[in-house]
Parts: sequence; structure tokens; C-alpha cells
Amino acid sequence: MKLKRKINLLENIAISKVSIINALKVALLVGLILNVINQFTFLYNYEFHKINLIKTFLTFLVPFFVSIYSSASTKLKFFAWDISLFDRDLKSTSCNKNEISIKKGENINKCPTCKSKLRLK
Ligand SMILES: [Zn+2]
Repeated sequence: MKLKRKINLLENIAISKVSIINALKVALLVGLILNVINQFTFLYNYEFHKINLIKTFLTFLVPFFVSIYSSASTKLKFFAWDISLFDRDLKSTSCNKNEISIKKGENINKCPTCKSKLRLK
């Protein structure tokens, strides 16, 4: 798979509604826990003015992007034996004879000639 195509596919998965909603949930929960751990002394002593807002924001941002990345990479791995997430042209991994165009939502089958996996052209 060409790098540009792979990045494009990752972007498409990453910006999907489900990925973003899940990442927001993870960011809220994990970010909250990490912020309480990191700034516990300030919270415990009511020294709210000492809380670093940039660190607070980054503590929410990191789990958000970790979640987006992991969901995108997981979906990318499942692509070869799953349902296609996008319209695409596929080619056999071993014989290179068959080029098959499939639409979003269709099953990704194996090559009709050699029965090997199909990959992006
Ligand atoms: Zn084949």
C-alpha cells in the first residue's frame, strides 16, 4: 500500500464520527483522572491559581489522540478480511492478475484465481 494512500485511509477512519465520539469519551475520563493525579496537591490545598492550564489541556489532548490513533490502526488491520470502509480498487497479493473494485460496505473477498488476500492497488 502506498504511503499516501495509507495516510488517506487513516485520515478517513480517524475523522469518522464514531472514532471522534469514542476519543472524546476516553479523553474526558482518562484526562480527568490524569489531571487529578498530576495536580492533586493544588486541588487538595485549594490552590487553583497554581494549576497550569496548558498542562491541563494537554493532559486531555494526549488520550484523545492515542484513542484516535489506536482505533484507526485497528480498523486498518481488520480491513483485509472485513467489510470495506470505503470505495476502493483491490489487487491480489500474490498473482497480481485480478483487479477488483468494491464499494463501501461490501465484503472484501479473496482473489478468485489464487485465493490469496486482496490489498489496495
Ligand atoms: Zn490471485
